[in-house]
Amino acid sequence: MGRARKELEGDDDRLKYAALELRLSMEALTYDRARAYKDEFPPAEYETWQPRKVMAVLLEFDPNADKDSTISFGVETTPGQPAEEMTMLGTEIVLNVATLRRHYDALGSFLHMPTLKQTKTGKTHDFEKLRSRCGEIAEYIEKVLASPVHNVTLGSFATITCMECNQPIRKRMPPSIIAVQAECFSCKASYKISDSGGGQVNWEPRNHEIACGNQDCGHKIQVWEREVAAGVTWECPACAGRNTIVYGIKHEGTAT
Ligand SMILES: [Zn+2]
Ligand SMILES: [Zn+2]
Repeated sequence: MGRARKELEGDDDRLKYAALELRLSMEALTYDRARAYKDEFPPAEYETWQPRKVMAVLLEFDPNADKDSTISFGVETTPGQPAEEMTMLGTEIVLNVATLRRHYDALGSFLHMPTLKQTKTGKTHDFEKLRSRCGEIAEYIEKVLASPVHNVTLGSFATITCMECNQPIRKRMPPSIIAVQAECFSCKASYKISDSGGGQVNWEPRNHEIACGNQDCGHKIQVWEREVAAGVTWECPACAGRNTIVYGIKHEGTAT
């Protein structure tokens, strides 16, 4: 951020460096925000994405992902009743999707060279406008960086150990939603988590029984729903034959 500020003090020729620094800061803040959700959204999934897309996905599983939040705590004198005296830890200012939308692409288009047509018609970049935009972004980013609390992702979570690979799966339970689907990031397993009341949830594996295609065998195996796709093959443990999942077409004859 210091570098962006320094470039902003320079002349118009330096503005593009300020814009570049600010764009990089917005990217860094978004990826940093995403890292707070690493149990729900593994980095491998978004490494090559634009910040706006990353934020859109974060908002899908936590509608509060880009909202500022204030954290306070206190001791309940009567259990279940809010404490009379609350101590405020601080407010986190988050780089929100509206700011990303307003500024990220605008800075990007400035960073590209003006087109020949723009140069001919004299319609080049409006440096005055860009300078005030950069100033506005810099001020906002400084506020985000100065937040006393950082990457707050409070919520209710359901956690289990994957039945298939023993890795922990953690899934945010949005309030007032009856069931959500959770996928294991380490294997093909997926589960339906439903609210069973009293703060309890029920994990139901999403798998199916498939019978061997050999009419004389019919041995059944369990497959995860995410594994079922045309071309998937397996060797039957009972008859040692090979089965392949294929798409099929059933001919219905002519319509009369
Ligand atoms: Zn797993
Ligand atoms: Zn078989």
